[in-house]
Amino acid sequence: MAADRIHIVDCAAGTPRPDWCDRCQTSAALLVELHVLTAEGVSTLGTVRGCSRCDPHLFNRKG
Ligand SMILES: [Zn+2]
Repeated sequence: MAADRIHIVDCAAGTPRPDWCDRCQTSAALLVELHVLTAEGVSTLGTVRGCSRCDPHLFNRKG
């Protein structure tokens, strides 16, 4: 039976790694996995991706 509410112990990001960006056709993107440790174990929430060229707001760059 699934718990009504999970007890999150900790949350951590994996090691960022370069990724291919489909928009600008370069490998300027970063991919980071988000892991959550709960009382039931570790699960991966998903991945977050950002491109240093296409998403300059993510990297605090102007332009
Ligand atoms: Zn891009």
